[in-house]
Amino acid sequence: MTSISAATGPRLRLWREASDTHIRSRFGGYYYLLAWAMLWLTSRNPGQNLWLWSGGVLLLLGFFILRSSERPTEQLPAEQLQRWLDQRWVLILLQSLAWGLMLAGIQLHPGVIVSHLVVMLCVVVFGTALAFTYPMRMPSCALAILLTYLPSTAVKIHLGIGDIGESVALVIYLSYLGLFLYRWHREYHISLDRELRLLRQGEQLDRLSRTDALTGLSNRYQFNALLPNWLASARRQNSMLALVLLDIDFFKKINDQFGHRAGDLYLQAFAERMRQLFRRDSDILLRLGGEEFAVLMPDTSLEQAMLLAERFRAELTEHPLNIPGQNPAQYPPLTCSLGVGTFQPLCDDSAEAFYTRVDNALYRAKAGGRNRLELA
Ligand code: GH3
Ligand code: MG
Ligand code: MG
Repeated sequence: MTSISAATGPRLRLWREASDTHIRSRFGGYYYLLAWAMLWLTSRNPGQNLWLWSGGVLLLLGFFILRSSERPTEQLPAEQLQRWLDQRWVLILLQSLAWGLMLAGIQLHPGVIVSHLVVMLCVVVFGTALAFTYPMRMPSCALAILLTYLPSTAVKIHLGIGDIGESVALVIYLSYLGLFLYRWHREYHISLDRELRLLRQGEQLDRLSRTDALTGLSNRYQFNALLPNWLASARRQNSMLALVLLDIDFFKKINDQFGHRAGDLYLQAFAERMRQLFRRDSDILLRLGGEEFAVLMPDTSLEQAMLLAERFRAELTEHPLNIPGQNPAQYPPLTCSLGVGTFQPLCDDSAEAFYTRVDNALYRAKAGGRNRLELA
């Protein structure tokens, strides 16, 4: 029997993280280039040291291209998504280190004179942007922020630029940033959990709406949803599709004689018997309503379907249903009538027409004396 499997889980979580990381990375590349251009143009002699400035542009362009390339796709298996994320984080860390070193380098370079304040702003702004953009992985993000901060801080100490007040302000800001990173990290994962939970609940509701509560088989709603689709694909692929309709004989008597509860137990036992006999993974077992059941069998010829259906009918007569907790002798053996048919693209012009043709066969089985099978 086919069940509608839940597509949620660790893979979906990885996909969400990868997709968020990719989407959030897209614009970062522009800002590094913009900031570098600003440092260049606001430097004392923008016409000098061209190799250094243009080398920086090339390096940032390289990162920009790498960051925009290879977007993750939803169909990727978990291991590939994990690998994509790991590679993306190596890139983020490398770019943070490169940016930190570039800022430190232009401060150290004797021929380049840049505003100390603008460099500090570049460190603080990009550190903040990292925390804001990539809170998914807290330790890696904290490392990226440190890689952005440390080189120019070391240069500042080495050159003795800035005063103690500025250093204290930077340390306070860094700890504040750490706190925010922690908060954003938590919020990101809480909202991701919530989203996954909603998806799971949605799937559960969808499954419940397609499942018959008494027997656990698929219900008529699912039948109505599936049949047209399956017929369309059978038509396209020129494949076979068989439908077996089963209706319990004189079921009303069971209810009248033993009560509705016993009737329910019969219906459950009948469904269980169906599960035992129609065991192919691709078979869909359904309770269409009341005491009427169906089996949809893809890639099955009329002969195969008839053999299986006939075996079910015979088994039911030879080995009566066992009602749990009840004395078998007390209950009369149960039989059913069956209609069997395969989809004929030339004569069935709709799902309705196909169903009606098989239902007519079932009606003939009833009219012909019950506990029998008729072909559509
Ligand atoms: P036939 O051989 O012509 O099919 O006769 P039948 O008595 O099986 O068919 P009929 O349509 O006259 O009666 C069906 C009965 O199934 C009537 C209804 O009380 C019973 N039934 C339908 N749904 C349920 C259910 O969920 N639980 C129980 N216990 N009985 C049900
Ligand atoms: Mg009946
Ligand atoms: Mg009926």
